[in-house]
Amino acid sequence: MRRGNWIGGWRSPRPPRIPRAVVEPVLLTAGHAARKGFLLDRTWLDPHHPCHVQSMTLAIAQAAIAGAAGDVPVGAVVVDCSGHILAQTHNQKQRLGDPTAHAEVLALGAAGRSRGNWHLNDCALYVTLEPCPMCTGALVQARIGLVVFGAADPKTGAIATVGTLAAGPWSNHRPPAIAHVLAEQCQRQLTDWFSQRRRDRAQPPSAPGPVPPEPQPTSPTQ
Ligand SMILES: [Zn+2]
Repeated sequence: MRRGNWIGGWRSPRPPRIPRAVVEPVLLTAGHAARKGFLLDRTWLDPHHPCHVQSMTLAIAQAAIAGAAGDVPVGAVVVDCSGHILAQTHNQKQRLGDPTAHAEVLALGAAGRSRGNWHLNDCALYVTLEPCPMCTGALVQARIGLVVFGAADPKTGAIATVGTLAAGPWSNHRPPAIAHVLAEQCQRQLTDWFSQRRRDRAQPPSAPGPVPPEPQPTSPTQ
């Protein structure tokens, strides 16, 4: 699939600079773009844009891996403006016992290592759940070019829902963001996972069965 960058040009010979006007608002919508006269291609702001859907689908697949391993199902993908996937990963907080092992942090680290440069201003990060304050800080540190998320997080969403952390005066980089890409699918994945976990916890422990016989060695020595 042919991809463009989200700044307004196709196949630019070098990563384009984000126009200042685009950087101002934290959450961009087509309506914002039209009113403010942003240089962003309006179709690129559409959450149904095939490039967004394709990348978010990969992030959802990553989230499923996290869920199957016992972590909250959140997945993230980093894509550069040529469409190359630099990182695909998922939340591993439980598995690693690491409170910072959110999908976004792991994806940014992997993307930076893959190109030997932490500066990701020509990249987009796709994540199935709106980033928390920690991850929003990491996105600012990475100078990410674009944030695209699926489900909004009414508890800790720091891009647009609870706060607009990246837009504060303390932020030296204000990445544009696109919300609600495959939002229903992302939300359903989370809801189903938490519902299943509640059911698992509500089940009484099964009664102990008969003690199996001791296995007989097939040979006295190995
Ligand atoms: Zn986070």
